[in-house]
Amino acid sequence: MNKRILLICLLLATTILRLDAQEKCYTAIRRAKKVSEKPELKMIFEQKEQVLQQILADKSYAKRSNIIVPIVVHIVYNLDTENISDEQIHSQIQVLNDDFGFTNKNKLDVSHAFYKYCAASGIEFKLANTDPTGNPTTGITRTKTDKDIWKKTEFEDVKFTDYGGINSWDPTSYLNIWVANLDDSSDVLGLTIPPDELSSYPEYDGLVIRHEAFGTMGTAGTNGFPFANLGRTVTHEIGHWFNLHHIWGDTLCGNDMVADTEPADSANHECPTFPLHPKNSCGSSENGEMFMNYMDYSSDTCMNMFTIDQIERMKATISLYRSKLLTSKGYSMARIEENDLLHYYEIHPNPSNGTFHLRTTKDTDIQAVVTLVDILGNTVKTFGKATNNTLLNCDDLPNGIYFIQIQKDAFSKTLKVILNRE
Ligand SMILES: [Zn+2]
Repeated sequence: MNKRILLICLLLATTILRLDAQEKCYTAIRRAKKVSEKPELKMIFEQKEQVLQQILADKSYAKRSNIIVPIVVHIVYNLDTENISDEQIHSQIQVLNDDFGFTNKNKLDVSHAFYKYCAASGIEFKLANTDPTGNPTTGITRTKTDKDIWKKTEFEDVKFTDYGGINSWDPTSYLNIWVANLDDSSDVLGLTIPPDELSSYPEYDGLVIRHEAFGTMGTAGTNGFPFANLGRTVTHEIGHWFNLHHIWGDTLCGNDMVADTEPADSANHECPTFPLHPKNSCGSSENGEMFMNYMDYSSDTCMNMFTIDQIERMKATISLYRSKLLTSKGYSMARIEENDLLHYYEIHPNPSNGTFHLRTTKDTDIQAVVTLVDILGNTVKTFGKATNNTLLNCDDLPNGIYFIQIQKDAFSKTLKVILNRE
């Protein structure tokens, strides 16, 4: 073997080793560390699993299909590039609703052998619109930190204001997701605290995700994480948040406590070809391993399904551990309806020779704040709280194009107006 071939072989071996050793998700590793530090936890977790299995056997859990989970996204950034945009955050919420709603574009074809196991979960995700004190919110917090990177041993520090991160919102009413600059020298994309730890460590409950594995735009998929470009790290980690395990059960041919996922010997990476390892040594069927399941380690482009039994397990978990989500005030329909009313505002006349008449076609008073902005984006007039039938006097302004912004909480409507005196 000449030196050139030897070098290529070494490079290939390194690549394969990297994939084998790749730990995209830190959830199970953290859990194993906790158990090794405190061995009595093993039995506690097993007892809790028995309770869950009993609930599943009895089918004594809420089977409702309109569960809304309010999310608060905590952006913790050092560099401006890590302070990801609202659009990137919204793209992540869309992915969650597509994946959990089984409306994802890459779902299996009906002719696929695994299609019959797929279903919509009935779980929906919304950015919170009401914070823990009852005030309006965008569901996004932004915290500038001195910490330029979060090392593996510090991932959970991001959940605490005292350590350079930000404290959680009540984890029984909100799903907290911290998005931060996790150490690039690790392959970890994210981690979750499983729900059976909620009562012991409520302040830790939630997800930590690297910003390059969050959403489908902006920094998603950058900095050497091209396989994490479609927001499915968060889909996977929320699976853990609802008590799902990796489909290989975190050990050779392990048990994921779900009946309709195929037995798998270990994690799969990238995008294998179906069928993968048919009739494997763990006892899979001729269809092989379910590498496209969200709870495997395949690339984002390759993942596309939760199974019916995984969904049942998530629902039972909500009943057992996360039932307060069902009555959470974090996402208020009333507030949405109130903000929807903004769309009924109209301006007359337009163009105007000096005074605009603001009115709403719905007979209501939502106390919106109205400002006039010029074409450069500068606020030139503030009218304060405007209601129906409000006169906006602009006699003192020169002719031109302006924008009237009607703002209510985190929502706004902008109307283009023209001042044109003869
Ligand atoms: Zn995982």
